Amino acid sequence: MSGLSHALGRQEAGDEVTVIDRQSQVGGVLQSNKIDGYLVDYGANTLSLRSKKIADYLKKYNILEHAIDANLECAKRFIVKQNKIVSLPQGFISFFTSSFLSIRGKLRLGMEPFLPRLKNNPEDESMGAFVKRRLGQEALDYAANPFIGGIYASRPESLILKHAFPNLQQLEEKYGSVLKGMVKGGMNQEDKLPKTRLISFENGMHELPHRLAKHLQCELLLSCNILEVKRESNGLWTILVESKEKGRVEKKFDEVICTLPSHCLPKIKWHNLDENHLIHVLAEATHPPLALTFLGYKKEQISHPLDGFGFLVPEVEKRKILGTLFSSTLFSNRAPKQKALLTSFVGGERNPELCGLPDDDLISLADSENRELLGIQGKPEFTHLVRWPKSIPLPDHLTTKRLEAATLLKQKNIGLSFSGSHISGAPLPNCLSVT
Ligand SMILES: Cc1cc2nc3c(=O)[nH]c(=O)nc-3n(C[C@H](O)[C@H](O)[C@H](O)COP(=O)(O)OP(=O)(O)OC[C@H]3O[C@@H](n4cnc5c(N)ncnc54)[C@H](O)[C@@H]3O)c2cc1C
Repeated sequence: MSGLSHALGRQEAGDEVTVIDRQSQVGGVLQSNKIDGYLVDYGANTLSLRSKKIADYLKKYNILEHAIDANLECAKRFIVKQNKIVSLPQGFISFFTSSFLSIRGKLRLGMEPFLPRLKNNPEDESMGAFVKRRLGQEALDYAANPFIGGIYASRPESLILKHAFPNLQQLEEKYGSVLKGMVKGGMNQEDKLPKTRLISFENGMHELPHRLAKHLQCELLLSCNILEVKRESNGLWTILVESKEKGRVEKKFDEVICTLPSHCLPKIKWHNLDENHLIHVLAEATHPPLALTFLGYKKEQISHPLDGFGFLVPEVEKRKILGTLFSSTLFSNRAPKQKALLTSFVGGERNPELCGLPDDDLISLADSENRELLGIQGKPEFTHLVRWPKSIPLPDHLTTKRLEAATLLKQKNIGLSFSGSHISGAPLPNCLSVT
């Protein structure tokens, strides 16, 4: 997505562009697959459409008209508390009736607007420290922790607030309180859509890069592995690519925008770069391993109505899965009629070792946790899984150095720049709004 987005931007600016990717199709981690009537997404499951800028971007490429909205029921979200599925409050009244926090936890949270703002916010305050300071330990355990597990397969304590959620930090700075700021509409109001939309596509999320790629009028070299990048003495850049069809071929460019994931950078030979050692700083992004299991059941096997987005598991609940999406509730064509598809996330920073389990063990682990929590009888009729040994680059304590390294490399090597989820941030809107 990052590469395509840059390419389209440059094409519109009148540049002649070549896109090179080692995969046989565009999209990177955005891959979807239809198996036995079940439609599974290996990477992102949804795109959260909050800003006018992203909506306009998708409109410009005639993509928004093909988007499908998540089922309305999906506004409802659940967490696990004391081995039960508990719904999160959706409004002011349900905040008081919901059991997701104890009365004490709710009172502590309710005190937030009256807490003083920090005069000098710690430069590298973690998301965990911020939530505990402003909203209390229980909100950290039962809201922030499962939420970060679901988005980044990580922990709030590992993420640096200003990189992961700069808006939250700004709310405290501007309004003196996160809750007050949210009531007043949050930051960047002029760019906000009246209502956030959660979207995907009829054929899964991979439709997004495929539709974007249709607008490329440039050279698109797929199944081409980049082996070397060399700065020439005349200021040009030579890229050595290898493909099955053509073997090794050199290509010359005035400029190179590298949107390869952080963990792929050391596999490339970089020649004649100034500050070459900084490539290793870029390459060090933390990527927790993650496995996604896809389980299909007959609806009648599941006693929970699956009337929501899915559930997330707080770490204090000591379970093995990070959470489960009710995929066939999210978008109804994800499973055959009268069947349900559950997508569960295993591993992450909490339990990285679980990603190394044999396939059958991973499937039965997810099956047994879902069975217990959702009241499932019998075995799944469909099972599938995907592993991401390096899943999502974290906005953690390494980020400041990484961003500085990218800036310095660009300054010192005219014509070379770095982008991609380890620089822009992993959520899809960050990868898209680069132009
Ligand atoms: C499991 C998972 C779930 C996610 N869920 C969500 C979600 O629900 N919502 C959301 O907004 N975001 C989500 N994300 C994040 C988001 O999907 C990614 O951050 C984003 O798609 C990354 O795009 P990218 O172009 O930066 O990187 P990538 O998609 O990783 O693309 C990098 C490309 O570089 C190519 N490449 C690597 N090395 C070479 C080489 N040597 N030569 C040539 N090509 C090379 C690869 O083939 C790949 O195509 C999720 C990510 C994951 C992994």
